[in-house]
Amino acid sequence: MVPLDDSKENCTGCGACAAYCPHLTMCMDEEGFRYPRVDMAGCSECGRCQHLCPMVTGDGTVLKHHAWVAGEISGQSSYPQVYAAWNKNELIRGESSSGGVFTLLAQGILQRGGVVVGAGFGPRLQLCHMAVDTADDLKLLRGSKYLQSDMVDIIGGIKSFLDRGREVLFSGTPCQVAGLNSSVGGAHELLLTCDLVCHGVPSDRLFRNYIQEQEAAHGAAALGISFRDKKSGWKRYSVTIKFANGAVYEKSSDEDGFMRLFLSDLSLRPSCYVCPFSTIPRQGDITLGDYWGVAAAHPGIDDDGGVTLVLLNSVQGLEAFETLADLMTVYPSDIRKGVAGNPCIIRPVSMSPGRRRFMQDLGDLSMAELCAQYLLPPSWGERGTARMKRFLSRARNLLYS
Ligand SMILES: Cc1cc2nc3c(=O)[nH]c(=O)nc-3n(C[C@H](O)[C@H](O)[C@H](O)COP(=O)(O)OP(=O)(O)OC[C@H]3O[C@@H](n4cnc5c(N)ncnc54)[C@H](O)[C@@H]3O)c2cc1C
Repeated sequence: MVPLDDSKENCTGCGACAAYCPHLTMCMDEEGFRYPRVDMAGCSECGRCQHLCPMVTGDGTVLKHHAWVAGEISGQSSYPQVYAAWNKNELIRGESSSGGVFTLLAQGILQRGGVVVGAGFGPRLQLCHMAVDTADDLKLLRGSKYLQSDMVDIIGGIKSFLDRGREVLFSGTPCQVAGLNSSVGGAHELLLTCDLVCHGVPSDRLFRNYIQEQEAAHGAAALGISFRDKKSGWKRYSVTIKFANGAVYEKSSDEDGFMRLFLSDLSLRPSCYVCPFSTIPRQGDITLGDYWGVAAAHPGIDDDGGVTLVLLNSVQGLEAFETLADLMTVYPSDIRKGVAGNPCIIRPVSMSPGRRRFMQDLGDLSMAELCAQYLLPPSWGERGTARMKRFLSRARNLLYS
């Protein structure tokens, strides 16, 4: 466990410490993020929680973000190898957030008798990491859920799968992959890790307020949510919620309150704004993301069905990807093109200046009031903001290239 006295930004909430120590429990703070709490009566100060924390370096200091500079790795390493790819199975591609490459990797592991671990919803839309070993159950993991998944309970399970000689594919945010890697003691020949390009995780409290309002408006419990419904296309995705009484809510992401407050960088976990894992080298054997900007990087290939940006970061990742070649449409790409449309690969997002006040208002204001107070109207605000963000991102990329 990283020392939290100075700043909460030091803890990513991966739960590696709490998975090991019975005297540590992950507890939700007032902003809606989980942090470890120590039962001092039971703590023997063995130091193992610090040793397991991926945010603590070998010399005991807190890990900081190091900028990746284009060209820095050339000559030293042939990784990452970069591709634009999508699943040839259009049904699965349609159910996936980008091109459905995750499901192909997962099917590959299942065919060899392995287990796939990823984020899925439990009862009452609580998100946690779970293990599945049938192709049908992969639907539980498919698709991005814009929440922080709880993985404390699965870490021990992964270790016992590995101890029993079973292959495991683990997929999660970069900090979760870092937490798992430190829990299993580094690279393991039976473990294939897949980290996502990650914008950051939003407050669970914001999400609970949102769901409560939705349930009140629709008069029934929410049974399931898709944050990336592609009915109107990959780039104009919408949020869909299904309710117990058969009602369905559907709104495009630039009109839905929760998505707008998530994407505006007001509601992310403090550690996300300084994430040391948003860089190259990446944490996983494979990195998957949306290939935003594919139309400019590879003109003519984007059919708006979803394209996955794939970074192969190790021999294990490369081998796993190569065995799936027949099942995918694949175009070789390069890291500069990938980063141009998706700067989160190499640097964390910036904290929105209103975040502190926003978090104070979270308990008092409705979603509509929060949006009115902290965001510009969707009709012109988001477009203007997006244009401004694109401009700033291009300017930054020019500086970095
Ligand atoms: C919180 C979050 C932020 C993201 N931000 C970006 C971004 O800024 N830019 C970008 O290019 N891509 C981002 N992604 C990744 C992207 O949305 C897709 O997950 C990725 O392109 C893989 O898509 P796919 O079609 O291959 O597979 P999919 O089937 O869509 O991917 C599913 C995989 O994602 C995992 N997953 C879903 N939700 C979570 C979660 N909350 N925590 C951990 N793992 C989860 C599942 O376990 C499963 O393995 C983000 C994903 C998440 C979860």
